[in-house]
Amino acid sequence: MKEPTFRTAPAPGAFEPANFRPVNFASDNVTGVAPEIMEAIAEANAPQGAWPYGNDDVTGGLSGRFSELFDTEARVYPVATGTAANALCLSLIAQPFNTVYCLKHGHTYEDEGGAPEFYTNGAKLVPVPAADGKMTAAALEAAIVDVGGGGARLPHVMEAAAVSIAQVNECGTVYSVDEIRDICAVARANGLFVHLDGARFANAVAALGCEPAELTWRAGIDLMSFGATKNGAMAAEAVVLFNDDLEDTLSQRRMRGGHLFSKMRFLSAQLARYIQDGLWLQLAANANAMAERLSAGLAEIDDVTIDYPVDANMIFATIPGDTAERLRDSGFEFYDWGDPDRPNIRLVCAFNTDADDVDRFVEAARR
Ligand SMILES: *Cc1c(COP(=O)(O)O)cnc(C)c1O
Repeated sequence: MKEPTFRTAPAPGAFEPANFRPVNFASDNVTGVAPEIMEAIAEANAPQGAWPYGNDDVTGGLSGRFSELFDTEARVYPVATGTAANALCLSLIAQPFNTVYCLKHGHTYEDEGGAPEFYTNGAKLVPVPAADGKMTAAALEAAIVDVGGGGARLPHVMEAAAVSIAQVNECGTVYSVDEIRDICAVARANGLFVHLDGARFANAVAALGCEPAELTWRAGIDLMSFGATKNGAMAAEAVVLFNDDLEDTLSQRRMRGGHLFSKMRFLSAQLARYIQDGLWLQLAANANAMAERLSAGLAEIDDVTIDYPVDANMIFATIPGDTAERLRDSGFEFYDWGDPDRPNIRLVCAFNTDADDVDRFVEAARR
């Protein structure tokens, strides 16, 4: 069989399907929807309809399903974006005059256009220094003393109320259960709530092979953003509460934030199928395995440096000058990352990333 040739984008009018097969490693949201989830959406599409605004049976059963998954009573509120989930979570644990500790390269801090500040009506995000993309308990402790003034200078300083960490984090590394537990212990000792941004939570659970409970409420997490979109759903994320005290205002806040879907059942059906029969972990396992294969291949190439441990499905690599351009000419897509002097790229593998495409990328990078 003739090898297809690649190019980044077809010239207008020159599209030749047989000849064009771009492979996009930019993110895990460039992919489509897992067939199982698509089927669940079709199933929810019953001709007789269902009650709106989450008063349908699938949504009604969702908290029960998540409670089983997390081995505790969990309350689940579907939303359509991870940004909404994060911002809603933070609005429950931080008042307008509070601070929330996070990381500078965190999604809440860098990538949400002020949604956390908007939903909390002005709470301040305070970045804590990171190591390999992670917050450490020691760095958090230092930041609390440093910025909060220990509460002694109220009402002049903004008092710390919460901590927000991402799992998988934005450098592609994964917190161990112990690391999360240590962060939560510092938070608890200082009266702070802990939020987990789990846009890629499945990838972390699949990587660690632990129970979801160990990584969350048993370690001290109060509430989380549970992601599904990047791992095979169409547009389904959820706020998951482990701490009952936080539930009071969430349904009003979700409505006010424009995320009470009238056809909620289509989000709920995705989430229900996603966690059924371990589908979410199977999908994540492929993404993680492909990232491992890709980083192992790249690591063997002279002049290529893998910048962070590849714990899950994301790879950050420093590559020689013209390599990125060559790869793009060969039909591969990915994001440039970091500063322009240091040609970093980010590669993300997804639930349906194909081993042949990974191998072809490594081959093209080696040339
Ligand atoms: C993608 C992502 C989100 C959510 O992003 P949306 O585009 O709003 O769905 C949140 N946190 C992290 C770490 C992410 O990578």
